[in-house]
Parts: sequence; structure tokens; C-alpha cells
Amino acid sequence: MNSDTRDIRKLSKEELDAFIVDMSFDKYRSNQIWEWIWKKQKTDFDGMKNLPKNLKETLSSHFHFAEASIDKKQISIDGTIKNRIKLYDGSLIESVLIPVESQNRFTACVSSQVGCSLTCSFCATGKMKLQRNLDAAEIYDQVVIVNEQCKEQYGRPLTNIVYMGMGEPLLNYKNVLKSIYHINQEVGLGMSHRRITVSTVGIAKMIKKLADDEVKFNLALSLHAATDEKRNKIMPINESNNLKALSEALSYFYQKTKNKISFEYISFKGFNDTTEDAYHLLKMTRLFPVKVNIIEYNPIDGVNFERNSTEGVENFARLLSNEGVTVTVRKSRGLDIDAACGQLANKE
Ligand code: SF4
Repeated sequence: MNSDTRDIRKLSKEELDAFIVDMSFDKYRSNQIWEWIWKKQKTDFDGMKNLPKNLKETLSSHFHFAEASIDKKQISIDGTIKNRIKLYDGSLIESVLIPVESQNRFTACVSSQVGCSLTCSFCATGKMKLQRNLDAAEIYDQVVIVNEQCKEQYGRPLTNIVYMGMGEPLLNYKNVLKSIYHINQEVGLGMSHRRITVSTVGIAKMIKKLADDEVKFNLALSLHAATDEKRNKIMPINESNNLKALSEALSYFYQKTKNKISFEYISFKGFNDTTEDAYHLLKMTRLFPVKVNIIEYNPIDGVNFERNSTEGVENFARLLSNEGVTVTVRKSRGLDIDAACGQLANKE
């Protein structure tokens, strides 16, 4: 990679158009290049077959591709595949393919940052510290890689994408939205917004910004405790973004977008699984239409929380569903390869 050149995938379409015209090529060439980059996912100029030689040379002398590639792949006994992805600067992130064949659901879980600046006590990534934000193309590459893997392994493309890997997506707002733009575009992966969920620990100001920007994808709040007192203990972000502020922001998001909202709720034995906890959670579900996903806790080194019994998780779920709340219990996937929720941390 020539460090004097720019990463072509950082250009907007307008910037690429302007470059092509400046270099005295026909403007339609820009559309061809755009299609090679985002739809056909080419990462070298030589392979762009319908471009003339002098244009390929011009492109090579001005641009490069900051490519991401699989550095290590682990396959769980339940079919989950965890990929360690190496970025152009040697940084490592993780992306996971979660197949649920019985429901015909094949989900990519992608990272938005290298590490994380927040320090949720139950999360392995939070122990890594933030190294940097990912570019839109680095997020897009993860989806492309996992999509190809899904086709190879299961003979079909992805059905869903969740921004639930390493990092807090709303602290890398611009690049996350740009990556979703490319995933959604016809000259891209052509995947519907309805199949994309961005998961946040809750930054009220940014949730309102999503609403003002009229995004079309789904939003998940990693709630995990339904009182400020308990949430402060496990998620320091709650001290500056308490449940009242988050509820207001989510109500605003729902009013403006009508997009689906879900609460992610990891069940920690003896911490957030009592009848009283269910009552507080229930109150929050009355503010706007919301689905609750109860997630089994996945132990990580150096954390004292205990995994709840299947019965404990189901009892808690029942307390909610009996009151008419839509609840699903999510079984841990990829536990044996540390690919489950909260376990992504480049262990090696
Ligand atoms: S749960 Fe998300 S926001 Fe919290 S530390 Fe982990 S990666 Fe960061």
C-alpha cells in the first residue's frame, strides 16, 4: 500500500465524480468505479475490467484500498463462526456469523470500534480500551466477509445485521450511518433497513439525532437493569444518560421514525432477575412499543456475575409476557469460542 495515496473508499460519490472529471475522463466512468467498489466489492483497480488502462493507472497512482481480511476463524459446535479481522493498520476486531437454521435467520454481528471507551462491567471489550473508530468501509467489509462466509457455509446470504460487536456504534455515528447507507444501497449489498439493528448502551443525545436524521433501521437499547441505581453499577454511561433521559429519547425516536425498538436485557443471577426488577422493566415497556430480548449471561474472566439458570431466565420472561410484553429468550451462541454477547475481546 502506497502511503502517499488515499483510500478510495473514503471518497463520497460526488468526490469521485469530481476527481474523474478533473482527470479529463468521462463522468460515467465514476459510476462504473463506484459499482466495482461497493457492489462487486473489488479491492484492486486491475480487476475493474471495463475501465481503460490509463484510467486504472491514474486511479492506482492516486488511491489505494485499505483492505480488511480474516486473520483467524473459529467455528463453534453450534455453527456460530467468529472471525478475527485484521485491518490495514494491523488492528484486530471481531465479527460473528450467527446461524439459526430452524428460523432461517443468519445474522452478522459487526464491530464499530477497535476496543471501546465505555466500561460496562460485564463486557470483555470494555476491558480493552478504545483504540480507534472504524471507517465505514471497515464496517462494510465485515458484512461482506460474513455474507460470503454465510453463502459458502449455508448456501444463502445473510438475513440480518446487528451492530452489536466491539464498540459503541453511536460514538462512531458518521461511519456507522455511512456503512448502513452502503449496505442498503442497490449499488451496494441491497439489504433492507428493516434487517439492520443498531445496538446502543444509550446515549440520549445521539438517539435523538438518529430520530432527527430520520434513519430507517431498528434500534436496540442494551438496558440490562431497569433502575438507575442498578444500572449505574454495571454501566457507567448511565450516570450521564439516566433512564429518564433514555426513555424520553426513545419515545422521541419512536414518534419520529416508528422504527422497531428493542431492549436487550442480560439476566444476571441475583442482580436483575427479581419480581421487582420485572416491575421496573414493565413500566419502561409502557412508554412506546418495544420488544424485550432476555439474554443468557456469558461469563468472562475477572467478572463476578453469575449465569442464571434456564428456569430463572424463563420465570423472569414469564413475568413480562404475562403482562402482554413481547419477550424472547436468547440462548447463548458460540459460547465455546468466546463469540457470545459481551465476550468479544481478541483474547489472544
Ligand atoms: S457493552 Fe458495548 S458499550 Fe459496553 S463496554 Fe462492551 S462494547 Fe463497550
